[in-house]
Amino acid sequence: MKKLLYFSLIITLILILSACGDSTSGEGGDGVYTVGVDTTYPPFEYQEDGEMKGIDIDLINAIAEDQGFEIKIEAMDFSGIIPAMQAGELDIGMGGMSITEERKKTVDFSDPYFESGLSLVVAKDNSEITSIEDLEGKTIAVKNGTTGANYATENKDEYGYEIIQVKDSTSMFQEVSNGSADALLEDYPVIMYAIATSDLELKVAGDKLNGDNYGISVLKGKNDELLKKINDGLANLKENGKYDEIISKYLGE
Ligand code: GLN
Repeated sequence: MKKLLYFSLIITLILILSACGDSTSGEGGDGVYTVGVDTTYPPFEYQEDGEMKGIDIDLINAIAEDQGFEIKIEAMDFSGIIPAMQAGELDIGMGGMSITEERKKTVDFSDPYFESGLSLVVAKDNSEITSIEDLEGKTIAVKNGTTGANYATENKDEYGYEIIQVKDSTSMFQEVSNGSADALLEDYPVIMYAIATSDLELKVAGDKLNGDNYGISVLKGKNDELLKKINDGLANLKENGKYDEIISKYLGE
């Protein structure tokens, strides 16, 4: 009798544990994929009237609809997205995320969906800094975990500037507007959009520093089926005009 009680206790424990396991994985048992995006990265994602909007948001919703899966969007600091995927809390990572060799060690990327690259940005009335070569002894603000932060770190010794790390684009823009930093690095579609749509006292200095492409990411080697759906959906949207519709909704023709 005691043995039977022991046995059923163990079975109950196993059942409880496996149920817990299910709920920590983003997909759960209910076929809903959790998508991590940056907190504020217009025109790719931003909050308006309590709602998430932007190219990334519309794109993943349209892909999900095309491929018949459900999604739930979660906004977080950009630097938290890949770690959250690794912790099993997210199934899909977006956020204007550039496809890089470094990231490919931990995630698989979809086909590219938007062309980007880095720009150097300074205060509107700054005529002293016209390229990265003018940054000797200056301070540059970058966002944690981004290609901009990476670029700044890699070239620090060559150009001789100090780096301030912040957690989002809003703080980065503030560092330069309030004079705490002399310059910042931001993706050019994002800074062009910000300058065009708000009264930021900032401008781009010099040419684009590099070029890259945004991709949708899933945890490496474990999500081939999901990645295929994402790529198939993306291809369908490009073919049926939905992709262009989303882009021009936010960026015009
Ligand atoms: N595209 C850049 C990157 O992937 C910046 C992304 C962001 O700030 N949301 O690192």
